[in-house]
Amino acid sequence: MRNFDLLEPKTVDEACRMLDAGEDVRPVSGGTALLILVKQGLLRPQVLVNLKKLEGTNAITRDGAGAVRIEAMATIHEVETSPVVREHLPVLAAACHQVANIRIRHLATIGGNLAHGDHQSDPPGVLVALDAEVELSGTRGTRAMKVTDFLLGTYETALETGEMVTAVTVPPVRGRLVGDYLKFTTGSSEERPCAGITALVRLEDDRPVEARLAVGAVAARPLLLCETDPTEGALQRMAEHAADEMDAIPDLRGSAEYKRHLVRVLGCRALAAAWKEACP
Ligand SMILES: Cc1cc2nc3c(=O)[nH]c(=O)nc-3n(C[C@H](O)[C@H](O)[C@H](O)COP(=O)(O)OP(=O)(O)OC[C@H]3O[C@@H](n4cnc5c(N)ncnc54)[C@H](O)[C@@H]3O)c2cc1C
Repeated sequence: MRNFDLLEPKTVDEACRMLDAGEDVRPVSGGTALLILVKQGLLRPQVLVNLKKLEGTNAITRDGAGAVRIEAMATIHEVETSPVVREHLPVLAAACHQVANIRIRHLATIGGNLAHGDHQSDPPGVLVALDAEVELSGTRGTRAMKVTDFLLGTYETALETGEMVTAVTVPPVRGRLVGDYLKFTTGSSEERPCAGITALVRLEDDRPVEARLAVGAVAARPLLLCETDPTEGALQRMAEHAADEMDAIPDLRGSAEYKRHLVRVLGCRALAAAWKEACP
């Protein structure tokens, strides 16, 4: 592994100034993804900016309107075990619980997961289904955008030089959401997903008013389909439609056709389970 300098800022402003110094400067949070790339020689940063020592950047809170804000340095384990997430966004807790293994989850951060932009990840699809926003801070200020607009493709995000992810916010839910995250791997359960399906039904006054299906890990970006006034038949068509729409990426885990088939079968299964929970 090539040598690099390690900088340890104490504040977000200080970190952004360091990150703005050039393309050979990279932020590192948990290091679970970045250090593998460095060890393999696929990335050769001259300077690493360690974000893990930033003060007060891992809080998980819910405001009076019901929006849940997760600061970027919160580990995947902190997200999955957060009482706020468990109570108000159980589908996100479920997805985070299925990331890798407990050792990785203790190091990996939600900010690093999004910034890495690897399509074979669990949290991004769920965050897209929840209509989440990502907050980016840089030397030119702070901006926010939908997670779906932030993720541009495999290892490609809307982050600009000198910017870092500082938080992800899930807006308040009108009514309540039921449903779950279904992960499929072709190897051990600790592996990256071959497909990650989020199926949610939103209820208002105990009446289903919307269904959402988000498919992660299959194509370069998560796919989100929404159906207002859902019916059982419409949900089945939704899964078919998702499978037809997906520009699935073939790899060691399966061919494009195999992955589209997975989306059809698992999408139907996850939506049926969400529907059953919504209309028992
Ligand atoms: C064995 C193994 C199994 C895994 N299994 C899964 C799995 O099942 N599901 C899954 O979703 N993921 C899985 N992963 C991937 C990995 O754990 C995640 O992508 C992790 O969340 C990355 O977070 P990190 O904090 O470690 O990021 P880092 O490794 O520190 O950084 C990743 C990238 O993001 C950048 N970065 C980090 N933090 C920020 C920030 N705040 N702002 C801007 N840029 C930033 C870095 O420069 C780097 O480019 C696995 C990884 C391993 C090694």
